[in-house]
Amino acid sequence: MVQGVGFRPFVWQLATKMDLVGWVLNDSAGVTIEVQGEETAIADFVNRLRSESPPLAKIDSVESLPMAIQVESEFRIRESIEVEQGTTPIAPDVSMCDDCKQELFDETDRRFQYPFINCTNCGPRFTIVEAIPYDRPKTTMKSFPMCELCQAEYDDPSNRRFHAQPNACEKCGPAIWLLNSGAPIDEFASRTNEADTGCVLDSFQSLMKQGKIVAVKGIGGFHLVCDATNEEAVVELRKRKGRIDKPFAVMVRDADQAEPFASVSIREKQLLECRERPIVLLTKIARPVGLAESVAPENDFVGVMLPYSPLHSLLVQDVPLLMTSGNRADEPIARTNEEAKERLGRLADFFLLHDREIHVVCDDSVVRNVDNDLLPIRRSRGYAPMPIRLDDEGPSVLAVGGEIKSTFCVVKGNYAWMSQHIGDMGNAETLAAMQRNVEHFVRLFQVDPKAICADLHPGYLSGQWAEQMAKRMNVPLYRVQHHFAHVASLIAEHNLPHRQKIIGCCFDGTGYGTDQTIWGGEVLIADTVTFERFASLDPFPLPGGDSSVKRPGRIALSLLWSHQIDWSDELAPVRAMRANEMKLLRQQLERNLNCVQTSSMGRLFDAVAALIGIRQEINYEAQAAMEMEAMAASAIEHVNADYSFELFKRSLWRMNAANLLRAVCDDLSMGTLRQEVAAKFHHAVADAILKACELARDETGEQTVGLTGGVFQNVLLLRLAVQKLRQSGFQVLTHSVVPPNDGGIALGQAVVARNWLKGKN
Ligand code: ZN
Ligand code: ZN
Ligand code: FE
Repeated sequence: MVQGVGFRPFVWQLATKMDLVGWVLNDSAGVTIEVQGEETAIADFVNRLRSESPPLAKIDSVESLPMAIQVESEFRIRESIEVEQGTTPIAPDVSMCDDCKQELFDETDRRFQYPFINCTNCGPRFTIVEAIPYDRPKTTMKSFPMCELCQAEYDDPSNRRFHAQPNACEKCGPAIWLLNSGAPIDEFASRTNEADTGCVLDSFQSLMKQGKIVAVKGIGGFHLVCDATNEEAVVELRKRKGRIDKPFAVMVRDADQAEPFASVSIREKQLLECRERPIVLLTKIARPVGLAESVAPENDFVGVMLPYSPLHSLLVQDVPLLMTSGNRADEPIARTNEEAKERLGRLADFFLLHDREIHVVCDDSVVRNVDNDLLPIRRSRGYAPMPIRLDDEGPSVLAVGGEIKSTFCVVKGNYAWMSQHIGDMGNAETLAAMQRNVEHFVRLFQVDPKAICADLHPGYLSGQWAEQMAKRMNVPLYRVQHHFAHVASLIAEHNLPHRQKIIGCCFDGTGYGTDQTIWGGEVLIADTVTFERFASLDPFPLPGGDSSVKRPGRIALSLLWSHQIDWSDELAPVRAMRANEMKLLRQQLERNLNCVQTSSMGRLFDAVAALIGIRQEINYEAQAAMEMEAMAASAIEHVNADYSFELFKRSLWRMNAANLLRAVCDDLSMGTLRQEVAAKFHHAVADAILKACELARDETGEQTVGLTGGVFQNVLLLRLAVQKLRQSGFQVLTHSVVPPNDGGIALGQAVVARNWLKGKN
């Protein structure tokens, strides 16, 4: 990562300081330097290239060769050239640095309150780059010729804006303007008169005070924004967006501003303030203040982020702002001003626009903190498209991921590029966004895929698209089983030696199994070539298949039925269901009508949450499980781990929940506290993981366990499982680069498909 990060000026300064002559240039292979001087000085120079490089630079390797003496009298920065071979990473968008922040709020600075201030250490990159090498004419800044002052900074190697490609000021660069949502389309397309930034910012603040909803164009797309303390405004936004109770994220001026409503540990403060500026999922404090209830209703977590662009820093003042992606439910986030008017016109009262084009849409990233490690929930802005380095080489492959939380991955040489978050593949718009982004990645990183890889599920849109793509490109299409892909992504992230097997515990919601049933509570013995299913949750019928996932109450009753446990009247799912509906459900189960067998651990979590009475229906994925996690957290330290799964060996090991479910029902009928039941259930799942892994170790001798799948977004469970496994002597791998949920599987698919392709050739 040496382009767009101030690497050339750093080289220039270093060489000049050391009295070396020669040149440096950006090419599509990275950076090439020719340097001439005393041998010892050159050796020193090479060392310092690594040890003193700029904060955003990442050097994978330095190769040097001797050459004949050239006629040189100084050290120069040469024009970039394009080279066919090789690839150089593009930096992610980087949050505003401290130097720029200082200038932004300095009334005497010429960039005072300029919303697009940046330098070589900060600013947009990935979202404005159209092609490589990374130079201004190949970014969306090409339509803004620099004024004299900006150009002088850009040309001066001692200036911190030397070759800062998005360099701009109020005089020459992009500007913001504010429109009523009813304004004509041409006023969206371009600013009609000189907008006064100060005026726009003042108007924005008064709109917030009036409870209005404003669509704000940021770095990677649009947000819908309102005052996060104004309950009516938040409720209105929910209504317009059709979002019932899925939590919204808020942007705060600084970590202190979050403290009245969220607990912020030292480590979480660091995460909030890190360069990538992700949304950090924080736990709400008891009796939170300064946050409207409807921001994250009935949810103990709240997503919080700090401003990452100068514009955001100018917008967040005395109150936290609710910031949610500017899209209608399930559609991709809006990119152009015109698109925003069309799609968000009915959602927003006003638009705060700017005229720097967004070439690539990039949603906010989401992380959680686990014992001082970062757990990615959504890897997007700030992280994408930072490549993941792989240990082995091979042909290029494109993998298209799963169906929800879609990302794709291209591997080339020893890099894997994971895309930003694309969205849920339920509609044509998301598929189009996928297509557009794949084409962009393939061009940007000069990838020529020799195979395409998709999930095994025959119904996934991404799989159908991959099939067409493979036909058009005349390359093979590989299909990799869902949970195998999860485990492979974890192995790839940790760069284990080729063919090293691990015991992969993949617990998640839904994945198509090799036996055509729905899997999701799997213990696989796997490397990145093959897997063997060692153990799973004992399967139970899911009436209505995947369409029943929104109704945990029904799943709970199905589970009880399959384990011959009575539907007693006092159970929460029974109380919530009409008698008639219950009769139909029983008939459906008894006649095995439209029932799909599943071993999904995600569904078991939902079902137990329903039994506890947390909720019988969910409006977004993992809602019940998240609420149960929060509930269990308060009791986890002081309960006895007295629930347990039984493990039986059938064709494979099965984790059977019958006794556990009986104990849950008994406890509930005896009036045991709900948080204690929830906590005991978490212990039981962690114990089952341990038991299954010990059996796997006995049988195979493997000592390494990997924890992956969407269920491991649950920090409480993750922590318990890691503790118990380590105590038993296992080495435990968890995710810190790609998410454990389906946002991570494209990496695993790509790595497996490449191995298969290599095996074939
Ligand atoms: Zn800066
Ligand atoms: Zn300027
Ligand atoms: Fe999954």
